[in-house]
Amino acid sequence: MADELVERLLDWPYQGETMAHEAADRIEQLTAERERLALTICGGEDAPGYANAQTVETLEHVAKQNQQYHGATINSLRAAEVERDRLREALTRLLAPFGNDACHYDHHGYCQEHFIEADCCVAHARAALKGETP
Ligand SMILES: [Zn+2]
Repeated sequence: MADELVERLLDWPYQGETMAHEAADRIEQLTAERERLALTICGGEDAPGYANAQTVETLEHVAKQNQQYHGATINSLRAAEVERDRLREALTRLLAPFGNDACHYDHHGYCQEHFIEADCCVAHARAALKGETP
């Protein structure tokens, strides 16, 4: 539709030719902006022409859905961070009695310093607090 209007403006055999060119340039700019916005709202790369073929009402609906989805995702992330911090604090308190005691594994591979197990849970907990694997 915009392309047709541009063609009509450019063919306008009237003294307002300069104005017609300015209007045509502006229409092309706005069309390009609309395409960029449509692509952004639709999530970037997509099937050729899909985003641009959507009506403004559809794009508004998709934008609102995106906002709701992202809002829910952010809320989930915040809840997960709160839970992570709560568990980190609990684990820190649970490990406090062990101080800096290092694991001492016997010849069978059991930690004699803590709970006499092959895969010492204290080592696991310490590693988890550091974001590492034991
Ligand atoms: Zn240990």
